[in-house]
Order: sequence, then C-alpha cells, then structure tokens
Amino acid sequence: MLKKKIYLDYAATSPVTKEVLAAMKHYFSQDYGNPSEPHLWGQKARFAIDKSRQKIADFLGAKPQEIIFTSGATEAINLAHKGLIEAIRDTQNGKPHIITSLIEHKAVLETCQHLEKLNWAEVTYLPVDKDGLIKIEDLKKAIKPETVLISVMYVNNEVGIIEPIREIGQLIKKINQSRITNHQSPIYFHTDVTQALQYLNCNVDYLGVDLLSLSGHKFYVPKGVGLLYFRKKTPLVRQQDGGGQEYRLRAGTENVPYIVGLGKAIELVQQNKVQSVKLIKGLREKLVKGILKNQGVRLMGSSEKNAPHIATFLVEGAEGEAMLLLFSEKGIAVSSGSACTSGLLQPSHVLTAMGVPPEKSHGSLRFSLGKENTSKEIDYVIEIFPEIINKLRKMAPNLDIFNR
Ligand SMILES: *Cc1c(COP(=O)(O)O)cnc(C)c1O
Repeated sequence: MLKKKIYLDYAATSPVTKEVLAAMKHYFSQDYGNPSEPHLWGQKARFAIDKSRQKIADFLGAKPQEIIFTSGATEAINLAHKGLIEAIRDTQNGKPHIITSLIEHKAVLETCQHLEKLNWAEVTYLPVDKDGLIKIEDLKKAIKPETVLISVMYVNNEVGIIEPIREIGQLIKKINQSRITNHQSPIYFHTDVTQALQYLNCNVDYLGVDLLSLSGHKFYVPKGVGLLYFRKKTPLVRQQDGGGQEYRLRAGTENVPYIVGLGKAIELVQQNKVQSVKLIKGLREKLVKGILKNQGVRLMGSSEKNAPHIATFLVEGAEGEAMLLLFSEKGIAVSSGSACTSGLLQPSHVLTAMGVPPEKSHGSLRFSLGKENTSKEIDYVIEIFPEIINKLRKMAPNLDIFNR
C-alpha cells in the first residue's frame, strides 16, 4: 500500500511550488514597500510588479499596460463583464446583448445573471453538445446588432473540454470589420483561460480575444491573485473605486509578493510546457484506459478536444460525493461535479447542459492531474477504483446498473 497521499484535484487548486515561493519570499519582509511611494522601498516593490507584468505580457503576446492584476479569475471576470457593459451602456442603441455558454464557470454565469437583473444587458446562453462543445453555427445565429460581448471559456473546469476559441475569434474579427465600416461598435470577446494556460496556446492575438482572465492558484501560485488582460481601447469602467492603481482600473494596494509569484509561475509554465503536456497527457491516457475497464463507467468530454489534465467519468450506481469520500479515506483527493448545497444534491450545471439527466450526473467523478503526479500513483488509483465502486453499488442494489 502507498503511504503517500495522492492529490488528483489540480483543477480545484494546486500547491505553491518551491520556485514560486522562493521568488515571493523577498517581498514579504525585505522589499515590503508600498509601490505607490516614491522612496526606495516603494520603488523596489514597483520595479518587481513591473517586471512581473512584463513577463506575463510577453507570455500572452500583450502589452504591459493591458494587464490588470486582480484577486483571481472571479474578480477579473466580474471586471470584464460589468466593466464593459457599464462603459458602453449609454453609447448603445438598445440594450447591450451578451452571448455566453451554459457551461461557463459560475463567475461568468452569475455575473451575467446580475447584469440581466439590473436590466443592463440581455444574455443568450448557448447550449453545448454531449461532449460539452458549443457549435459555431449556434453562435452565429445568436449574434444580433446589439451584441457587444461574447464570453466563452477556453477549457471547462469540470470536464476539460476545449472550446474553439480561435475559431470564434476569427469569426468575430470578420464581423467587426464590417461593423467598423458601418460605424457600428464592435463585438468584444472574452475568454477564461484559467484551466488552459499550462497546456494550450494563450497568445491573445492567436486566440483573437479582447479580454482574458485567469487565476494563479490553478498553476502553483497562492490563492488570491489573478489578472485581466484587456486589449487596448476596450471600454472598461473599474468596479472597485479608490486609489489609482492598475492604470486606474482596479483600486487598492497591489499584492506585491503574489504578483511576483504569478510572474514566476508563468515563466515556469513557459519553460516547461512541452514536457508537462507530454507527461500529463500520458498519465491521463493511462488513467482513462484503466478506469474504463470497469463496467458502467463512461468518460465525459472528448478524446481529441480535451485538455490533458482533466478526466471526468460518470459512474453508474455510485454517487460522486460518496466516491470522493471513500477516495479521501484512501488518501486520494478527487472531485465530484455535484455539490451538496444545504443538504440538497445539486446536479452540475455543466453535465446538465451536456444532456446528462440529474440521477446520472450525481455519479460524476473528476480526476485532475498536475506536475507532481506519477505513473505509480495512477496504478494505485486504477487498482482501488473497482473496490470503491463495488462497495457503493452493493449499498444501492436497487439501482439496476447492467440490465438495460
Ligand atoms: C478556478 C476557476 C475560476 C475561479 O478562480 P478564483 O481563483 O476562484 O477566482 C474561474 N474559472 C475557471 C475555469 C476556474 O477553473
């Protein structure tokens, strides 16, 4: 038996790596100045922020002035959506229209719902197919003269499906060319790359996006730092008032050590991308093959269009949260799509959008991989998986799993 704990929940969060911690350390108690102060202490902190911003801008193919540091993806997403709508609300004929998808992170969905409630925007939520993919045709049909924002995530955090961001970007570019000749305002394009950053090309011009958000703690930075990229000239009203920090778009004293950590982590992503994709892809393939040997288990997402670090399964006759707890007892961290909110099991909105009925979506189990995982760990998970599901299936014998 393995004594070591096995962490397979990297899509939820990740540990801070040594290199990142080492880069940050200095700015807690040595160069701790307030970057807004002109004295030496302040200027050292300012310099560290500038350096980090430049590194990140280079990685994204952006300019440093287009990066706003935030407390995470949630804040960046709020700023992008609310900030854009607030900025163009009065310049628009008719109510601004947003197009997004049914499988976005709650930060996007709830922000859109908030804007609907304020009556500031009308929102279209695009459906997805059984793999979780949106259809470009559906998107085309949804676009109206009032459409000002399209927001689609790059990689879905629950199933790992990769959405066709570059294709959407190209479509919007074409539409905007004719809009500009007709003196209409363009459509802005936002994507959340939090789950994509480590594995896919996130260059803003390659993707054709105007707004991009991410959170650091999914790639080895502490929780509580992220950023919004906004293409120059994208209208944006800040959502947090106060000081003039972050080009007047996000007031509040900068989190210097965490911003330094974010820059370091992105530098490491850049250096290690090729090997880490290869390693994690291999581990996922092994895991998927092993888990699918069990009866009544289905892989969600797509085999070709999936991120390498996420494998989500639907297990018949076993409940996700129960599996999670049994795994946890064995020292293994995994995740389940269904969340137990106030005693009620809520089916995942992502699986529901993919056409999974609620009783089946309760059997969802997500494994998400990171750079510390090994082949031996995957062997162990595959080995104990049948034990766990059989235990649960015996407890619920009335679920007719195999006689369909
Ligand atoms: C984790 C995550 C977020 C939210 O990040 P926070 O750090 O909680 O703000 C947003 N989008 C995706 C895809 C995520 O995985």
